[in-house]
Amino acid sequence: MELYVLPLGDCCCDYEVIAPGVSDGRRVHIPVNAFLVRLGDDSLVLVDTGMNRLHVRDPELTWRGTPTAEALVPVMRKEDSLLYRLAELEIAPQDISYVINTHLHFDHAGNNDLLGGAKFFVQRDQYEEAKGNPSFPNQYWDLPSLSYELLDGRTRLFDGVEVLPTPGHCEGHQSVVLELEETGTVVLCGDAVYCSDNFEHDAWLGQADPERARESGEMLRKFASEHDAFMIYGHDPVQFHELRRAPGAAYH
Ligand SMILES: [Zn+2]
Repeated sequence: MELYVLPLGDCCCDYEVIAPGVSDGRRVHIPVNAFLVRLGDDSLVLVDTGMNRLHVRDPELTWRGTPTAEALVPVMRKEDSLLYRLAELEIAPQDISYVINTHLHFDHAGNNDLLGGAKFFVQRDQYEEAKGNPSFPNQYWDLPSLSYELLDGRTRLFDGVEVLPTPGHCEGHQSVVLELEETGTVVLCGDAVYCSDNFEHDAWLGQADPERARESGEMLRKFASEHDAFMIYGHDPVQFHELRRAPGAAYH
């Protein structure tokens, strides 16, 4: 099994958005990533799909006219589109067999529309919260061409690929656990943990339900320590630079 980290641009926001009380007022660029997993049988799984490619020329595409437009500004170059990153690995969208969305926010499901040939896995609680809800812009993912399989809790999807429910960021948020041969266990936290400062400063107030987010974060931390796992956080501007990133590098 191989894991590729696909860098899909940044969001410019106040650090308070991801770690309140740590460095309030500091404007930062937080990374937005998707993850490509090549399974043992060569089939391809995408974990999250990043921000929609049209943000390259129109950063306000999603939030124009809302307070979010100033609070969270997408910054994407053409290389940061999902299509570009896949093409660098000589992969076309129709080659993707499965997509796991940690959740359906615009920076995690923004290119679902390109992946009509795939089966999507989302927790039922998240699908139900997101449907018709403007906080989860439906134009990117609630499309008749897409087929969703709704999950109820912890599920082993493939050999070496499991999802763990980690609510708190939203209802039915899920994190993804991968068993890699060389690297060992990897936890793709999604937005259950934005950055290491959430743990280091016990800073969870940026989450929709901070108390449940803390419980989910602590559960992941315990899981990671029991499995000697490497945790990849959802939007950590420091950790991002330490990750092996596609197309040049991967985890095996
Ligand atoms: Zn996010």
